[in-house]
Amino acid sequence: MIKQKQSGELIIISGTTCAGKGSVIEKLLKRNKNLALSISYTSRPMRRGEVNGVDYVFVSREEFEKKIANGDFLEYAKVRYGEYFGTSKEEVKKLLQEGKDVILEIDVQGAQQIKEMFPETILIFIMAPSMTEVKRRIKARGKETKEQILDRFITAYREINEIPKYNYVVVNNDLDTAVKKVEAILMSEKCRVDRIEEISVENQEEFIHEFLIDKDFENIPITIDEE
Ligand code: 5GP
Repeated sequence: MIKQKQSGELIIISGTTCAGKGSVIEKLLKRNKNLALSISYTSRPMRRGEVNGVDYVFVSREEFEKKIANGDFLEYAKVRYGEYFGTSKEEVKKLLQEGKDVILEIDVQGAQQIKEMFPETILIFIMAPSMTEVKRRIKARGKETKEQILDRFITAYREINEIPKYNYVVVNNDLDTAVKKVEAILMSEKCRVDRIEEISVENQEEFIHEFLIDKDFENIPITIDEE
C-alpha cells in the first residue's frame, strides 16, 4: 500500500575528540549488515596500527590535490595541521548503488558541504559526556604531546558550537546505549512520511462491496444505528 524510497541513506557521523565515534561505528557496522562505511582519503601520515585502504586511503598532499583538481571528492577539508581529508565520490556512489546506507565519518566542515548538496543527509553528532571525561580518556591513551592535546581541546570546543547544524546529538556515556540510540535514529528516519513515494489504497466502494458479499462474514448480524 505504501511505497517508500528504497535507495540508501547518507549518514554523517561527526564528534568531538575521544567521544568514541570509532567504537560506535564499528559496532553499528557489525550489527547492521545494510550499513557501510565510506573510507576517506587523507594526506596525513599513517599512524602505527593503521592500515592503508582500511582506516583511510593514504596519499601524498600532491596526489590529494590532483584528485581535488579531477573533481574526485564529494567533499574535502583541511582538518588538522593543514592535512587534507576527503570523501571519494566513486566510493559513495558504489555503496549507494549496492543499496547500502552509507556512513561518512567526517568533520563539521565536510558535514556542511554534504548537507548543502544533499539536504536529506542525516547528521549525527557524537559527544563524550564531559570535557573532564575527554581529558581522562586522552590521558589514558597517553600517545600525544601537550601541543597536540591542546589542539584537540580547541577543536572540540569549536565543534561543540557547531552542534545546532546537526539533526541529532548522542552522548556516549555507554557504548551499547549510544549504538542503540543511533539505530533508533536510523529506524525513525526510515519511517518518515517524506520518504513515501506513493500511497495506493484499494477502491473504497469495491472494497466494501466485496466485504458485504464475503461468505466468511455471512453470520455476523448487521445492525444499523437509528439516529
Ligand atoms: P584522525 O583520523 O586524524 O584522528 O581524525 C581525523 C578527523 O578528520 C576527524 O575529525 C574525522 O571526522 C575527520 N575526517 C575523516 N575523514 C574525513 C573526510 O573524508 N572529510 C572530512 N571533511 N573530514 C574527515
